[in-house]
Amino acid sequence: MSFNSGLGMERSYYAATANPFARAPKLEGEAHADVVVIGGGFTGLHAALNSIERGFSVIVLEAGRIGWGASGRNGGQMIPGWRKSAADLVARYGEAKARTLFDMAMEARNLSVERITKHNIACDLRVNGHLTVAAKPADLSWMREEADVLARVMAYPNAHVLNADEARAKLNAPGFHGGFLDECGGHVHPLNYALGLAEAGRGAGVVLHEDSRAVSLETTNGVVARTESGVVRARYGVLACDALLGGLEPRVAKRIMPVANYLVATEPLANARELIADDLAVSDSRFVVNYFRMSADNRLIFGGGERYTPEPPADMAAFARGHMLKVFPQLCNARIDYAWGGLVSITMSRLPHIGRTGDLFFAHGYSGLGVLLPALTGKVLAEAMAGTAERFDVLAGLAPPEFPGGAALRSPLYVLGMLWYALRDRL
Ligand SMILES: Cc1cc2nc3c(=O)[nH]c(=O)nc-3n(C[C@H](O)[C@H](O)[C@H](O)COP(=O)(O)OP(=O)(O)OC[C@H]3O[C@@H](n4cnc5c(N)ncnc54)[C@H](O)[C@@H]3O)c2cc1C
Repeated sequence: MSFNSGLGMERSYYAATANPFARAPKLEGEAHADVVVIGGGFTGLHAALNSIERGFSVIVLEAGRIGWGASGRNGGQMIPGWRKSAADLVARYGEAKARTLFDMAMEARNLSVERITKHNIACDLRVNGHLTVAAKPADLSWMREEADVLARVMAYPNAHVLNADEARAKLNAPGFHGGFLDECGGHVHPLNYALGLAEAGRGAGVVLHEDSRAVSLETTNGVVARTESGVVRARYGVLACDALLGGLEPRVAKRIMPVANYLVATEPLANARELIADDLAVSDSRFVVNYFRMSADNRLIFGGGERYTPEPPADMAAFARGHMLKVFPQLCNARIDYAWGGLVSITMSRLPHIGRTGDLFFAHGYSGLGVLLPALTGKVLAEAMAGTAERFDVLAGLAPPEFPGGAALRSPLYVLGMLWYALRDRL
């Protein structure tokens, strides 16, 4: 079992349909590079690609298998923006800074699509839009406000509010009151996207090591990353471990919290296009969000239901299927072919935590919106290592607060808060 193979990843739809990828060797002995990247998910892989394109030599240390963290097991939903609405950003930062942040998020979206196209990554990319469906009638008022702020402040004409009939024409599921369609959203096979990024990096000269867990880091006067069988000495480091960070760097761990989330993939469905029109990616407006889309072979890939305890449900398939049937009761006879879970890292503010400690840069805590944003953070970290820190400073300025209660209490206190919001969903 590899470091990141838990929660059924080896039995996931993505692992079953992964493109061939030659395993990278374990780190043995001493190695040197300009940049050592710790973590082989979207953040680490984008940082590696951007760094090598700037002329740095790069080594990636991945504790388990490339792409097997959150990056290769998520819903594959490409949702433009931050986990905060444009209206929230304006309220918090004012129009000018909110616009800068929004433009950066759109850059992330465009960079992701460009990477896939440029490197010819076979990952079932669909960019027909992302639909958020309204679980409560009251959701329509924030959706209208959001579309208005996007059009007026961000000069973004691609978001539209749908009434109940229009939403029903896109999504054949009862119980929704309308929706918010962002035409620039989409979806992707996330593991094949990650493997494609790694392959592109390898082609450009990035040295990859799998099964090479960093067990200690020194971060002043360069970065020294030690594994059990080797050591990398580098000018800079990029910490890209997200929810799997564990105790490696306690100075940054207090601002992120791992939450488990579970998915199922049904058998291929004969009536797939009747369930979701236009091959959209869809999520609902609940606090504990349900998200779903069709795979390239017409399976419904459905994620829903968070758990705040480290133990997975006894039956992951039954757990996520229960949420699926609440949205799609008509699928009660559909076979579940795959079930798996993953750890998503969230922050108090739902904005990511990006920064540096000594010569170690980090980006994590995308709070469920980490398919698109790493294309931006990887680029901005590489810019900062190359000496241009302006955009890095903008992102570092988003730093979320620490979770209350310190290392021992942050989880129980926060879990209570999350359960309260989840309960409000049900009421
Ligand atoms: C179930 C689930 C569904 C999600 N759905 C969506 C979605 O639909 N849309 C969306 O935008 N986002 C979604 N997300 C969030 C998104 O997947 C993450 O934000 C994103 O993948 C984070 O990428 P990353 O590279 O930062 O982290 P990861 O992909 O987790 O990569 C971190 C890597 O670091 C490695 N690592 C950890 N410790 C060490 C160490 N000591 N040494 C070396 N390597 C180490 C791990 O093995 C792992 O491979 C979802 C997440 C989950 C878990």
